Amino acid sequence: MVLYDISMTITEDMPVYKEDKAKKPVLTVTRDFGSSSAFESRLEMDMHTGTHIDMPLHFIPGGDTSEKWDVDGMFTRCTVIDFTDLDAEVITMKDLEQKMQEIGDDSQVFGRKMTVLLKTKNSMKEAFDPSFTYLDKTGAAYLAEKKIAGVGIDALGIERDQPAHETHKTLLEAGIWIIEGLRLNEVPQGSYILAVLPLKIKGVEAVPARAVLLASASMPLA
Ligand SMILES: [Zn+2]
Repeated sequence: MVLYDISMTITEDMPVYKEDKAKKPVLTVTRDFGSSSAFESRLEMDMHTGTHIDMPLHFIPGGDTSEKWDVDGMFTRCTVIDFTDLDAEVITMKDLEQKMQEIGDDSQVFGRKMTVLLKTKNSMKEAFDPSFTYLDKTGAAYLAEKKIAGVGIDALGIERDQPAHETHKTLLEAGIWIIEGLRLNEVPQGSYILAVLPLKIKGVEAVPARAVLLASASMPLA
């Protein structure tokens, strides 16, 4: 059994979306041994900091929030698809179709209990890159049609430069949850079990999460 921690580490100087200073986490020590018998600290941060799950409310007015996502969805079969060889900074329907031709068996990748993780050149960079590789609206439409459980990417956003946010909307309207801020550099393309455990926060549009992949020798590799 091989385990991969595919989460970002939360620190005050970690990369955040567009390097917006207001989005940097703030860690404050509220008690220490100089004045107290215990040590305590407080964390303030944006819900979209580090590895997190986007819920429908993020882009759909009145959309579902965090508590609609139960423990059932936290463990899924998962395929990591390697797009690090892509020249363009965008994953389109054509790119997905081409990878699926190489992988071959659709039934190993798509389905209501399956998650797809997009590994890109983003995983090779530590700093925030404004021209990060993203999933465009045609790629989102392709995955929506495949009726998967979720899709994840190794960027702090699953899309950019689409003013109508079609990628988020298409996926969220199709009931596909989105994991952003993954780190996949060490993970080979293949089949895994994905465990993604969000904090149990009620009524919000996104939740920070810890994400881990489990690889077993007995699992067929896509
Ligand atoms: Zn987000």
